Amino acid sequence: AKQSGRSTYRFFAARMNVEAVAHLALRSGLHRALERGEFELHYQPQVSLNGGTLIGAEALIRWNHPERGLVLPGEFIPVAEDSGLIVPMGDWVLREACRQAALWQAQGHKLTMAVNLSALQFRRGDLEKAVGEALAESGLDPAALELELTESIMIQDHEAVMDMARRLGRMGVQLSIDDFGTGYSSMAYLKRFAVDKLKIDQSFIRDVHTDNDSAAITRAIIQMAHSLNLTVIAEGVEDEAAGIFLRDHGCDQAQGYLYGRPMTALRFEKTILDGAIS
Ligand code: C2E
Ligand code: CA
Ligand code: CA
Ligand code: CA
Repeated sequence: AKQSGRSTYRFFAARMNVEAVAHLALRSGLHRALERGEFELHYQPQVSLNGGTLIGAEALIRWNHPERGLVLPGEFIPVAEDSGLIVPMGDWVLREACRQAALWQAQGHKLTMAVNLSALQFRRGDLEKAVGEALAESGLDPAALELELTESIMIQDHEAVMDMARRLGRMGVQLSIDDFGTGYSSMAYLKRFAVDKLKIDQSFIRDVHTDNDSAAITRAIIQMAHSLNLTVIAEGVEDEAAGIFLRDHGCDQAQGYLYGRPMTALRFEKTILDGAIS
């Protein structure tokens, strides 16, 4: 038993080493990627469930890696957060998303642009400045910018975050709570936080039409959002049945593969915007 314990330990240590090296490689790779402009944004459509028209897009970052091709954020955002690189990366996302939204607006498309924020960006004092600069540079109407934050941001450093939320709200941008229902959020925060929108997490939406618990949670979130005068959007809508359930239960908006996958700006223009001046 001792023998096998030791070899297990050795195996474990070796694996940790491999992981640490991979982590370091990723970290320096991300630095280079930012300098060389290897990041790009893909856009996923958001639709109104009452009429089915396009109302906005969510900007989702991808790393166009010279050897590996397109790398998804699940792999590099955690490392970018650990190293603090998420802050300059997030600034780039804000600027690029606002620039693209302003361009589409200038072409006559009335749509909002949702941008994901990580906790580190939110806690940093000059998020307000970063947002202000992205808006000023692009000329985008602040009301067309929607910042998505998670419940975990709300519980950290509560007062400072609340203050930042208030200042962003005063600039006229919209705030939404991403992955709603999965985190640890107090209902009381919602009211005091001045958020505009709740985004029901995809884990409930995936089986909303087959699982009673998911259906009950989804209905409760929709009702609560509406009693607090908040807009509610469902994410991860993959099939028609889920879309119908959501519409029938008064959910305002939806996003998911059913309406469109995240795609390049060019593809978004060709398949989503083309001919759809709204
Ligand atoms: P998220 O903000 O919850 O984004 C939704 C994720 O679900 C996206 O994954 C999207 O591609 C995926 N998705 C959309 N519709 C469906 C569907 O119908 N079915 C399924 N199964 N999935 C769907 P993605 O693009 O890989 O992004 C993963 C996460 O990475 C995001 O989750 C967000 O937390 C983070 N992320 C993405 N871009 C950024 C960014 O610019 N900044 C920060 N801080 N985080 C980002
Ligand atoms: Ca999001
Ligand atoms: Ca507001
Ligand atoms: Ca989400």
